[in-house]
Amino acid sequence: MFEKVLIANRGEIALRIHRACREMGIRTVAIHSTADADAMHVRLADESVCVGPPASKDSYLNIPAILTAAAITGADAIHPGIGFMSENAKFAEMVEQHGFAFIGPTPDHIRIMGDKVTAKKTVKDLGLPTVPGSDGALKDLDDARKVGDAIGYPVLIKAAAGGGGKGMKVARTAADLEDSWNLARGEARAAFGNDEVYMEKYLEKPRHIEVQLLGDSHGNAVHFGERDCSIQRRHQKVIEEAPSPGLNASERMEIGNLAADVIRKLGYRGVGTIEFLYEGGKFYFIEMNTRLQIEHTISEMITGIDLVREQIRVAAGLPLSYAQKDIVFSGHSIECRINAENPETFAPSPGVIKGYHPPGGLDVRVDSALYDGYRVPSNYDSMIAKLIVHGSNRNECLLRLRRALEEFVIGGIDTTLPLHRHLIAQTDFINGDYDIHWLEKFLDKK
Ligand code: ADP
Repeated sequence: MFEKVLIANRGEIALRIHRACREMGIRTVAIHSTADADAMHVRLADESVCVGPPASKDSYLNIPAILTAAAITGADAIHPGIGFMSENAKFAEMVEQHGFAFIGPTPDHIRIMGDKVTAKKTVKDLGLPTVPGSDGALKDLDDARKVGDAIGYPVLIKAAAGGGGKGMKVARTAADLEDSWNLARGEARAAFGNDEVYMEKYLEKPRHIEVQLLGDSHGNAVHFGERDCSIQRRHQKVIEEAPSPGLNASERMEIGNLAADVIRKLGYRGVGTIEFLYEGGKFYFIEMNTRLQIEHTISEMITGIDLVREQIRVAAGLPLSYAQKDIVFSGHSIECRINAENPETFAPSPGVIKGYHPPGGLDVRVDSALYDGYRVPSNYDSMIAKLIVHGSNRNECLLRLRRALEEFVIGGIDTTLPLHRHLIAQTDFINGDYDIHWLEKFLDKK
């Protein structure tokens, strides 16, 4: 097992990884920008190294500085966390070339899944259902017109290099196609430096259902059930729950086993998530994320398994500690992502925390790097806390979530806590009756 792990990230996820390492007897090295010198992940780690100024490109994305930090502290592995370097195949390759273990999949697997056109083709060949659409990237606008006519409108133009919902545009009718084509390509070029796009049928009322997976380098793979992440704003998840209120037990095992089969056939090592849209009783693959996900916590709550621990173990070459039959599902879990944003306008709200009281009690978990007096910097993602609750069934979970949200105090800045209190009181949410468009429609009506 590793003796010392460098955590190439910040905030709550850096803390999450630190905690798993600590419990495994592994020493940790934090990296930080000058803006994060007082951050909790720096305070708790055994050692820390400043890797650059506030801008992410000069610090958390600064490959030479990160590798140097690992070398001078004598780390034997690097955990990339979520975002930043976590899906950068080149980084994973360089980590290995410099003699460190990369706590994640092989660079090849990151590369295959990072290109959405290649990913879709790969999983389709391995037996997963995909959204009807173009066979690979679109050559030109004429090609787009032909595919649009063949699959029928509305359609979605999507960036091959996509992520975070960028480079994605709907064309409701053939007349909209040229505009959507230009907008999607322009956005893709600006965000990813790559304007390759493909087309999918636009699904009107799908749920976002994703399967948590884990594979080792000995040919084993298991799933941890699904998560429903349909409550989204601008393609960003806001609330997640496991299991999905929209699936029955046989659909759950079927999609879980199908997804686990795919990663077994790929020889995939590490944690990963296969994302689907689910509509009319059918699943359609949309993408695979080759890393830990923010909402991995709810799968941990319903299985009692520490996914980060398992991720570190398989990266060290150990076999899975669990066979599928050992993974027992119990109860229900919901996560609310709490952002430093105005709950009405969603304008970012950085600043100093004045008064912090996280909720507690049975089956309540708060993953956050906040503390009283901490300054939330303006340079990074606005998510500042995750509230995760568990209950023996969905109803108990909802009641506990309501109670925990009432208790949660984050003073000094605006947060989305009031929005969460409001959302979970809606009849549609209580009934589990929502799709990926529900939240935006709800916010439009307000
Ligand atoms: P990204 O990598 O940018 O997050 P995804 O392919 O994962 O892109 O899609 C993000 C979200 O966009 C999905 O969760 C869903 O809400 C929406 N979406 C993606 N594909 C479709 C589709 N074919 N029809 C309707 N909505 C879609």
